[in-house]
Amino acid sequence: MTKQRFRLLLAVIALLLVSIICGLAGAAHKDRPARSRAAQTETTDPPMSYVETTLAQWQIWPLMLVNRTHAVPDDYVPPLFTLENGQQFDARMYPEWQKMVLAAKDAGFTMEAAYCYRSNETQRQILNERIAWYRKQGDSAAEAERKAREYVAEPGHSEHELGLAIDIHAAGETKAENLFAWLKENAHLYGFIERYPEDKVEITGIAYERWHYRFVGRDAASEMYEKHLTLEEYLGEE
Ligand SMILES: [Zn+2]
Repeated sequence: MTKQRFRLLLAVIALLLVSIICGLAGAAHKDRPARSRAAQTETTDPPMSYVETTLAQWQIWPLMLVNRTHAVPDDYVPPLFTLENGQQFDARMYPEWQKMVLAAKDAGFTMEAAYCYRSNETQRQILNERIAWYRKQGDSAAEAERKAREYVAEPGHSEHELGLAIDIHAAGETKAENLFAWLKENAHLYGFIERYPEDKVEITGIAYERWHYRFVGRDAASEMYEKHLTLEEYLGEE
């Protein structure tokens, strides 16, 4: 093959590659708005553009309700961020978590995100282990189940499966009572709420968990803090 022919061949291959890549990129781009429109066929509103849909989802995600009656959407996997201790949570709340950790440090407290994201499978395992533990204490099967469910949510119904819940532990010299007292009054400034307050067990259906914090975003968290509302009350849902 002459040098000239070889160059020509290279140029043709390069052109082919470029057109294939452009074609793929175009197809991927076209795919997205179609999918987001499909999700909205029930409404009569004009279809939202890809950017509008993304923005709307971006604003709604911290307010997703998961409890006894509301399940985690099927196959929902949040964009996960992995912390140094191996725990994972929704990457979008990481900046606020970081700010809260630093503010706590300034106030003299060290805290750790001890338990965060769990898959549906892990949630099932935790529930079963808890039931087994109560059985070992001598409870009947029914009693063990009842007690376990007071603390551990049904698989598909745990906020931990959303990646928006953090079970916070005091670390180092920090006393748990002091840390939780600080969090109760300050977490909303960073978009977090104490999710299962002591006096709202009837509404949340979950026993008092002073360590369980949930990200809802700053505006919602501040309003819920000021009006002393649970997420259920704030959203007007059960
Ligand atoms: Zn929790």
